Amino acid sequence: MERNGSTGDALPRKRPSGRAARTSKSLPQARGRAPALYDSLSSIDGIGPKKEALLERLGLRVLRDALELYPRSYEDRTHIVPVAGLREGERACVRAVVGTTPVLHRIRKGMELTKFTIFDETGAIGVTYFNNRYYAAQLREGEEYLFCGVVQGQGRARQLVSPAYEKKAPGEGGSIVPIYPLTAGLTQRDLMRVTDAALHAVAGEYPEFLPGYLLAEYRLPALQEALVAIHRPKTMEEVAAARRRMVFEELFLLCCGLQRMKENRRDESGLVFANTDLTAFWEALPFPPTGAQRRAIQEIAADCVGGRPMNRLVQGDVGSGKTAIAAALCVLAAQNGWQAALMAPTEILAAQHEQSLRPLFAALGFSCVLLTGSMGAAEKRSKHAAIAAGETPIVIGTHALIQKDVEFCRLGAVIADEQHRFGVGQRAMLRQKGKRPHTLVMSATPIPRTLALILYGDLDVSVLDELPPGRQPVETYAVGERMRPRIYRFIEKQLLDGGQVYVVCPLVEEGELPLKSAEQHIETLREVLPHRRIALLHGKMKQAEKDAVMSDFAAGKVDILVATTVIEVGVNVPNANLMVVEDGDRFGLSQLHQLRGRVGRGRRQSYCIFFGKDKGEKARERLKILCDTNDGFEIARADLVQRGPGDFFGQRQHGLPALHVADLTADLALMQSAREEAERLLVKQPGLESYPELRERVGRMFQSTEIFN
Ligand code: ADP
Ligand code: MG
Repeated sequence: MERNGSTGDALPRKRPSGRAARTSKSLPQARGRAPALYDSLSSIDGIGPKKEALLERLGLRVLRDALELYPRSYEDRTHIVPVAGLREGERACVRAVVGTTPVLHRIRKGMELTKFTIFDETGAIGVTYFNNRYYAAQLREGEEYLFCGVVQGQGRARQLVSPAYEKKAPGEGGSIVPIYPLTAGLTQRDLMRVTDAALHAVAGEYPEFLPGYLLAEYRLPALQEALVAIHRPKTMEEVAAARRRMVFEELFLLCCGLQRMKENRRDESGLVFANTDLTAFWEALPFPPTGAQRRAIQEIAADCVGGRPMNRLVQGDVGSGKTAIAAALCVLAAQNGWQAALMAPTEILAAQHEQSLRPLFAALGFSCVLLTGSMGAAEKRSKHAAIAAGETPIVIGTHALIQKDVEFCRLGAVIADEQHRFGVGQRAMLRQKGKRPHTLVMSATPIPRTLALILYGDLDVSVLDELPPGRQPVETYAVGERMRPRIYRFIEKQLLDGGQVYVVCPLVEEGELPLKSAEQHIETLREVLPHRRIALLHGKMKQAEKDAVMSDFAAGKVDILVATTVIEVGVNVPNANLMVVEDGDRFGLSQLHQLRGRVGRGRRQSYCIFFGKDKGEKARERLKILCDTNDGFEIARADLVQRGPGDFFGQRQHGLPALHVADLTADLALMQSAREEAERLLVKQPGLESYPELRERVGRMFQSTEIFN
């Protein structure tokens, strides 16, 4: 999980003075004194280095981070029912006395039950814990507790299964218990400890940053109040009010940043690329453009002579031919004496762009260079020099392009391919390498309208709504394990016909089971198809190895490429016509659609096969949408509905800062207000002069302090 301001990303970010020093682990942590916001988590009693590392996985490094780890849900233990009122299948809380001593039953190896009875004035019920004898052992016979759990069975067999319990003073009601997101090895107790300490620290030093008039106008609780309510609510109404504030706050910060970025661009004069003659480009293009490509390129050419910096989004489904659009802008820049930079999210994709575009550019008399992070220092140095001297008009690369030591001589156009993979800040950094260059962002992931209105209010959009001719839709199937032998035969058949095959496996994170790893899959394939050339590609390989494997596959020297999702974005091997995705239910629909876009790029009939769990009805249901449609927009919509916006946006599909609380489909009215208020405030105070805390927050969200320059 990525969380702004807490993960150590590569972006240079100014920190408020003193902060870095205070987070430093080398400083002694005085135990016993009141916790401070930038204390490390290991300063909390009960949190050692091991737990600290696990917490870091959740994005938590210092106490402050814990404030923004919002509970995933709450268990409302305020509603207590009498034992007689317990219904099968329900989750409920009872206040009851332990009536019998907990007895341990060993059912079989590795399976222990602890059983006892509890009662109140209305009746009695059995309690069972599975493999949790220590938890149960702390209960005292004859004492009263609050038990919350699921009721199973009826009549005499009725029981509470593995209930959580709390000791409560007589008359003291149940509470609302926050449920935090966890990672293996952490418990809710740990998170309670951490958030307790964070809330304690907050009381001293955590100023409100929203303007007071907004709190009044929208009846929002103040920051500290809201944080306490989110983490330790007394009622669910309190949670709702606090959440409203968090949503408003998040959208308001987002809109302030976006608004500010728009302001930064407004009234700028842009470069004029007077020569927009693309005759030679059209001739050099290896295929006749589709109508949509032609339109988009004409729109871009018009922008380039308009006198304002172009700021355009090209949206087109996978395979719609966005690369050619990028190429056109590079050519427009180059033929007017400017440099163009094309940034891709992965090294494989950058290398592929360079390979496929080099001949096109060469035919027009322009050279291009590739710049990626894994290149040797000497190679980088010489390329940096060529770029700085303006010898190379076209530069293609990865994040390496936005590193400090890359200087352009005359950067006139920047292009971000698969823009949702980059943060807003990263795109801004690329732009800052030039003086108001024309900017093109390209994306295959459609975003919902609500968000588009906010985000792209000032962006012009070109849509590629047409696929190049001769494409047959990819035939897609979701299958269960039983089909495996048949699928292997199908792989062999495609290979016999001269095609090539991708087998995609999800990344296996440590502690996650029981997925087979890519290595295991490749072993099985080698056993079943021993005469086939099979290669492995994953993100941890060295760049040179990756390049070698990819180019072997592209050259037809490898039959089956077993890969992790490193191939998800943009990879283009038109002869590959079958993709098998292992554990398909582990991926989001939009991601699967992107993956599927790797086949169906040539004239061969292409197939995509998703393995899903045999039992998972829901999982299969989910995959069905992919079998039914090839339309990326429709799939994105279904994805949004099925997974909910939290997940959808959590994946940073839009390249915006990740949103944690705002539901961009449900909070429409609030979103509207947040945007209007942000606009209004920034008109009055373009630099948020009277609101330094607010300014700091916006910068933090966008991982950039530059937007307030
Ligand atoms: P995208 O980036 O939109 O997913 P690409 O630019 O990678 O798509 O193009 C996909 C494939 O289609 C490439 O092999 C490309 O050469 C080819 N292609 C693009 N435009 C056309 C066209 N107008 N006619 C035929 N093939 C095309
Ligand atoms: Mg592409």
